[in-house]
Amino acid sequence: MSFKEKGLLVVLSGPSGVGKGTVCRALRERGTQLNYSISATTRKPREGEINGVHYFFKTREQFQKMIEQEKLLEWAEYVGNCYGTPVDYVHKMIESGQDVILEIEVQGALQVKKKFPEALFIFLAPPNLNELKNRIVGRGTETAELIESRMSVAKSEMELMQNYNYVVENDQVLKACDRIEAIVLAEHCRVDRL
Ligand code: 5GP
Repeated sequence: MSFKEKGLLVVLSGPSGVGKGTVCRALRERGTQLNYSISATTRKPREGEINGVHYFFKTREQFQKMIEQEKLLEWAEYVGNCYGTPVDYVHKMIESGQDVILEIEVQGALQVKKKFPEALFIFLAPPNLNELKNRIVGRGTETAELIESRMSVAKSEMELMQNYNYVVENDQVLKACDRIEAIVLAEHCRVDRL
């Protein structure tokens, strides 16, 4: 199979609270031709979250087993919980010529870059860090302590932006979606993918 017939692996990453989940949902609602990988996590489900839809919720032991059995393409510990991308789904989609998008934090994205340097790395950036804090607080799902941890991780994550191919500012969700769709389309048209 030639490179062109393979699907594209799109990594959408950036600090927690920047709106990765909202942007992914909006892309989905618009019918953007992307397949959405469902991550495994040891985090407890939030209200309304469904196992197998939002995440595969795992115990620490189950997650550890997935790591040992090499079932994860990447994984990272983030603010006390583990998150990882099941490898089988990604391989199946890419090999059958379909694009897959991963919505993951920055450490995981850097691991994917080592394994799949040809993937498309998009950094979703907040207009500024105050705005980011407002969004995390506004979500109303985290304690004050967790908000501070997420903010401190976010500051160091912003410095890793130069490892990505593109940066998209999430000032407005629909504008961010337009930019991501344009980037994915352009990537499909690259001469070195022919
Ligand atoms: P949340 O707890 O808010 O759902 O997610 C916390 C962070 O983990 C977010 O930045 C989210 O993008 C990231 N995340 C979700 N799934 C994965 C994954 O499979 N791998 C990695 N590395 N990060 C993930």
